[in-house]
Amino acid sequence: MSGPVVVALDVGGTGMKCALVRPDGTVLHEERHPTLAARGPEAVTANILEIAAGLANRAENPIAVGIAVPGVIDEENGVAVWSSNVGFRDVPLRKLLTDRLGLPAALGHDVRVGGLAEARLGAGRGQRYVLFVAIGTGIAAALVVDGSTYGGAHGAAGELGHIVVRPGGTPCGCGARGCLEAETSARSIGRRYAEISGKSGATAFDVVARLDQDPAARQVWHEAIDALADGLLTAQALYDVDVLVLGGGLAEAGEALLEPLRNELKKRLTFHRMPRIVKAELGDTAGCKGAALLALDHLEKA
Ligand SMILES: [Zn+2]
Repeated sequence: MSGPVVVALDVGGTGMKCALVRPDGTVLHEERHPTLAARGPEAVTANILEIAAGLANRAENPIAVGIAVPGVIDEENGVAVWSSNVGFRDVPLRKLLTDRLGLPAALGHDVRVGGLAEARLGAGRGQRYVLFVAIGTGIAAALVVDGSTYGGAHGAAGELGHIVVRPGGTPCGCGARGCLEAETSARSIGRRYAEISGKSGATAFDVVARLDQDPAARQVWHEAIDALADGLLTAQALYDVDVLVLGGGLAEAGEALLEPLRNELKKRLTFHRMPRIVKAELGDTAGCKGAALLALDHLEKA
């Protein structure tokens, strides 16, 4: 494994994707590990450091380490400020990684680094203004302008899932009602279908698979797309992007999602320009690739 590589980790609530990534984005080696969130943040941190050190040992020429974490991230200071599903509270991950591995490190937000990778290497490449929207259990977005992400003053930009699209609507995990995420995430689509059809246990994917033969599935899907179009209308009014890249589990529905969504967004736009709406290309390696890009960007700045 000659040539410089970046050690990259994408930490989720249940699992971690880990990789050695070349500066051009090629993944040379991949590993998956459980996050062990139930054992508490200290155990998770120890686990991360151990795995990162193992990857660095495996590489002949590791030049940096990049790590992506969910929640509120202070990228500038390399601190995982708050993450409900991993349990982090003010964990100085960047310093811990640098101390352990002796390599420069960068810490990023999982969706923002995913967006960075899609904008530079994936479905948004060649475009200056890209909004990446990840729709899975929750919904979050990342604005990428000229290949750089926008994190906000407190590391919390891009929380598109908590734009209220149905005032007084479905209760959201954040405490508000009618948030985009409460109305149209993969989880809420499954829940809504169970409510209407009386069939419990169906996922958003089952809903998509039943569109042809099940009126309840069609109703739920259309409601979800309406809510999503309302949310994206707000996003486009704020950001005026060239391209909207949809990722996360729900984007796997492909044209069953994209085509009606384009139509609904088009109907709602008045003077704003219609962005292209496309499916993400990098799949679940986007986080590792983006973490690697972030680490390389930090090297350049240093
Ligand atoms: Zn909310």
